[in-house]
Amino acid sequence: MFDKIGQAHLSELHFKSDEAAQLQAIIAIHNTKLGPALGGCRCIDYASDDAAITDAIRLARGMSYKAALAKVPQGGGKAVILKPKQAFDRAALYRAFGKFVNELGGRYITAVDSGTHLDDMDEVARVTPYVSGSNIDGLDPSPMTALGVLAGMKAAAFHRYGNADLAGRIVAIQGVGNVGFALAELLHKEGARLLVSDIDPQKVEQVKRAFGAEAVNPEHFFHAHCHILAPCGLGAVINDTTLTQLDCDIIAGSANNQLAEARHGQILHERGILYAPDYVINAGGLIKVSLGHLQRSESAIRTKTWGIGETLLHMFDRAAADNRPPSQVADQMAEDILYH
Ligand code: NAD
Repeated sequence: MFDKIGQAHLSELHFKSDEAAQLQAIIAIHNTKLGPALGGCRCIDYASDDAAITDAIRLARGMSYKAALAKVPQGGGKAVILKPKQAFDRAALYRAFGKFVNELGGRYITAVDSGTHLDDMDEVARVTPYVSGSNIDGLDPSPMTALGVLAGMKAAAFHRYGNADLAGRIVAIQGVGNVGFALAELLHKEGARLLVSDIDPQKVEQVKRAFGAEAVNPEHFFHAHCHILAPCGLGAVINDTTLTQLDCDIIAGSANNQLAEARHGQILHERGILYAPDYVINAGGLIKVSLGHLQRSESAIRTKTWGIGETLLHMFDRAAADNRPPSQVADQMAEDILYH
């Protein structure tokens, strides 16, 4: 356990069990140099306790890197709830989780993530002020995440083609959920041609109808001929298999942990595919919940989110100058801020 903690430079790992509420939860706080740790709460099935711990640590570290490069006054943290195996009282579970968050006295601020919803955060907000993004505060991160991805796509297009205009560009979006749908809307307004894929056919229908998108079979998504490929569904989608299929110039999407392994960033670089590091391009949601929690104005939040484009341009230039993948440059820039 301490090896794992040491390797990730994690500062705190907390466990909570509340039998009555069927709560088994972990909060990992990675680094608080820049401010209190902020990161979502995931509630999913885990194969083992060890898998849950590993996930919490990896995600908390990712949040520190994301906050450092987004320049928000937050550290990195993440919570994981092991989804109860039997039927459970959702409100009681999240209130018990809220008490756990509260016991940390503000060193960790929670938010939504996979498997949790704004309604769950409403329950959390009943017992602790250390939550951002509920129906109560109205801080929905997804539209801002989509705006940041758009800013990042424009930066990538400028770097690749010398022109940030997306009109007429073919953009393939995998996953049209909260972020993917909002992104499709923004891209439609920009005049991009949309290819979309989702395992939920209703969502695909909706985007086809609303924005004239063309559907792609999920199994063939990574073969899609496009300018920009936008993974907005799952992680680890850039892997040994999909790398042989890609037919795009740029990868720029919202999904967390898109590279299955760090070496896949190097392979993309060698193949001349420009990759916008995920935790940089998808930071709009973090900016929203962080600055929203600090009562900053919507226009300040939008301006900072739009700044993701500038950060990426700088990163792409540096990567090109050093002949290194942008994913490596991003890690180094974040580590320079966090550890030096
Ligand atoms: P979501 O669950 O609303 O949407 C994900 C969509 O992907 C769903 O519609 C799902 O059906 C689809 N999907 C799943 N597997 C698929 C497959 N194999 N092929 C095609 N589609 C598939 O989630 P979201 O909130 O939109 O987040 C999307 C991604 O962005 C996630 O990886 C998330 O971690 C990341 N992210 C989200 C935010 C945010 O503000 N919501 C912020 C940062 C990062």
